[in-house]
Amino acid sequence: MNALVTLAKHDAIAVITVDNPPVNALSPGVPEGLEAAIAGANADAAVRGIVVIGAGRTFIAGADIKELESAAWGQPAKLPALHDLLAQIENSPKPVVMALHGTTFGGGLEVAMAGHYRVAARDGVMGQPEVNLGIIPGAEGTQRLPRLVGVEKAIDMCVTGKPINAADALSCGLIDAVIDGSLLDGALAFARDAVGKSAAPVKTSSLHQKLGTPGGNAPLYGAGRALAAKVRRGAFAPVKAVEAIEAAVSLPFDAGCQRERELFAECVASDQARALIHAFFAERAVSKIPGITKDTTVRPVGKVAIIGAGTMGGGIAMACTNAGLNVLLKDGEQSSLDRGMDTIRKNYDVSVKRGRFTAEGISERMSRIHPQPDYAGFDSADLIIEAVFEDMEIKKKIFAEIDGIASVNCVLGTNTSTLNIDEIASVTKRPEAVVGLHFFSPANVMRLLEIVRGRATSNEVLATALALAKKLNKVGVVAGNCPGFIGNRMMFPYMYEAQFLIEEGATPEQADKALTDFGMAMGIFAVDDMAGIDVAWRVRKALGHFSEPDVRRPLVQDMLFEMGRYGQKTGRGWYIYGADRKATPDPEVVELIRTTAAGAGIAQRTFTAEEIIERTVYSLINEGARLIEEGFALRAADIDVVYINGYGFPARRGGPMMYADQTGLAKIAARIAEFHAEFGARWTPAPLLARLAAEGKTFRQYDADRAV
Ligand code: NAD
Repeated sequence: MNALVTLAKHDAIAVITVDNPPVNALSPGVPEGLEAAIAGANADAAVRGIVVIGAGRTFIAGADIKELESAAWGQPAKLPALHDLLAQIENSPKPVVMALHGTTFGGGLEVAMAGHYRVAARDGVMGQPEVNLGIIPGAEGTQRLPRLVGVEKAIDMCVTGKPINAADALSCGLIDAVIDGSLLDGALAFARDAVGKSAAPVKTSSLHQKLGTPGGNAPLYGAGRALAAKVRRGAFAPVKAVEAIEAAVSLPFDAGCQRERELFAECVASDQARALIHAFFAERAVSKIPGITKDTTVRPVGKVAIIGAGTMGGGIAMACTNAGLNVLLKDGEQSSLDRGMDTIRKNYDVSVKRGRFTAEGISERMSRIHPQPDYAGFDSADLIIEAVFEDMEIKKKIFAEIDGIASVNCVLGTNTSTLNIDEIASVTKRPEAVVGLHFFSPANVMRLLEIVRGRATSNEVLATALALAKKLNKVGVVAGNCPGFIGNRMMFPYMYEAQFLIEEGATPEQADKALTDFGMAMGIFAVDDMAGIDVAWRVRKALGHFSEPDVRRPLVQDMLFEMGRYGQKTGRGWYIYGADRKATPDPEVVELIRTTAAGAGIAQRTFTAEEIIERTVYSLINEGARLIEEGFALRAADIDVVYINGYGFPARRGGPMMYADQTGLAKIAARIAEFHAEFGARWTPAPLLARLAAEGKTFRQYDADRAV
C-alpha cells in the first residue's frame, strides 16, 4: 500500500502489516497506508476477513510524539485526523481482527478498538498513557474504551495511564482472545472463525451494554476525579479524561467524539502538556554529549564491586542485581555489612509482599550479591563504585587502594554527592577512569543518576557510565565537577532561602505546604529531616558555606543540630516523628525560630504561598541559570530532568527551567532584581537569566539555538 503498510493474502484472509520501525508509531503515511489497505481488502472479492498486525516488536505503539510536540507549541503539525480511518475500519463489511503484541498504547489502542475483534499475545500490554504527556486520548479512545471495558475500568486506565496485561484485557473485555504461540497464526484462525459467523460484524461504537446511565455512573465519575487528585495531584488532563468518558455515556457516539476532540484540543494547548512533552524529549536528549558518538567504545559491565554497605551502597547493589549484574559488596565493618545485607533482604521482602517480585526471584538476586570484608575479586570487576562516608580523606585512601587492585579497563566510580571528583581522581594513576556516579536515595528506586565528569574523565568512561544508567533503567544526566554538581548545588540556595523565610515569619509547615501545593513531592523541611540535619550540617561545613564575613546565615538549623534533632533518624528535627514517620509540626521549634529571629533583630511578617514559591523556586532557577552559563550543565533541559527525576519537582511543570519559561523570564528576572536589592549578594541575578529576559527569550530557545 505504501512503504509503511503492506497488504498480503493468506487464502481468504487479508493480512495488513504496519511496518514503521522502531515502534510502528502513527507517523504521517501510516494512517494513509492503513486506509488504502482496508479499502484494497474490501475491494477484493476473494477476501472475506482482515487481520491487522504490527511488524517487529510491537503493534502500533502510539502517536508520533514529535508531531504532538509541534501541536503543543502551536507549530504546524501533522497530527493524523483518524476519524475517517476508524470509521472505515468499523464500517468494513468484512470482519477486522486486530492482532496485538508488544505495547499497544495510545493511538495504537484507539485503532485497535475500531476493529471488530482484538486478539493479543500473552506478553502484550495495552494502555492509554496519554496523561503522561498532559493530554487525553484524542482518537475516540475515550468513547470506545468504556463501551468495551465499562466506565469504571476506562476511567482507571485513562486517569492513571497505566498499561494492563493481556490476561487483564481479556477479563475486562478489551480483547477477545489471548494467543499463545504464533500471533499471526492465532489471528488468522480467529479471523476464519469470525468469517464463518453469519451475522455482520459488530461495531464497537454501537455497543452500549457496559455504559450504564449518567445518574448511575455519578459515583464513578466522582471516584475518577478523586483518583486523579490522588495519583496525579494538580494535573489537568486526567480530569478532562473523566469528562470525556462522561460524554461517552451522556451523548451519542458522534457527539461524544466531538466533545473528546474539544477536550483534547484544550489539553494540547495547555502549559501542562507543553511541560510534560518537554520533559519527555528532555529525557531522551540527555545522552547527547559532545565528544560521544555511537562509535565511542562502551566498556562491557557485568561485574560490579561496591565499597560501603550503608544506605547508598545497599541500594546501588539492589539496582545492579535487579539489572542482572553480579555484585561484590565490601564494607570496613562486619556489623555494617550484616546490617547492609539485612536491609537489602528486608527491602526485597517488601517487594515480594507487594507482588513485584517472587520469592524465588529474590533468592536468585540475593545470590548475586556477595558481602565481603576485603577486596577479594575486585581485580576482575568491570566497575567499582565507592559509597563510603562523605569524607575526602577516606575517599582518597580508598581510591589509592583500588587503583592498585582494579583491572586496566575497570571504571572507578564515586557516589559522592558534593566532593571534588578531580581531587579524588588525583590519588590514582588513571584519573581518566574516574567518574562521579551520583545515585539518589533509595538508589534502587530513584530514576536519576547524575554522572559527574571530572577534568580527566575519558569519553569512553563517560559513555560507559551513560550505558550503565540505561542498563539500570535510570536516566543518566552528565554534570560538571563543581561543589554539589547540578542537583545539590541548586538545592543549597533553595534550602537556605526556605530557612531565611521561616526566620522572617513563615513556619516550616507553611513553607512545606506551599511547596507541596506547588507540586513538589515533599517540602524542603521534610526533605531536610529525611536526609538528616546532621548530614546537611557536615556538608555545609565541608563546603564552607557562609564562611565569608558579614553574610546572613540561617540560624536555626545549627541549633537543631546542637540539640541532637537530626530529623527522622532521631524522631525530631524540624518536625516530630512518631512510629509511622508522619511529620507533626512542633510548637517548640516554631517558638525557637521566633525567639531566635527576634534576638537577631529579624522583622517578622506573614507570607503568602506565592511569595514562598518565588523566594524558593526562583532561587533554584537563578542557580540553574548559572550552572548552564558556567558549563556545569550542558542544557537547561538537563536541569529539568535532574529536578523531576531526583528532587521531586512536578513533571507537569516541566522542571524548574521550563517553569521559568512558562512563568516568563522577564517576571522572574524582575523579582530577582527586587530580592537582590532587598537581600544583597546571595540574590545576584545570574547573567544568563538577565540576558535572556532582556532579549525576550526562553531557556528552551537558548537550548535550541545552541543545539548542544
Ligand atoms: P552510610 O553511612 O549509610 O554508609 C557508609 C558505609 O560506608 C558504612 O556502612 C560504613 O561502614 C562504610 N565505610 C566507611 N568507611 C569505609 C571504608 N574505609 N571501607 C569500607 N567501608 C567503609 O552513608 P550513605 O548515606 O550510604 O552515603 C554514602 C555516600 O553516598 C556518601 O558519599 C554520600 O554523600 C553519598 N550519597 C548519599 C545519599 C543519601 O541520601 N544518603 C545520596 C546520594 C549520595
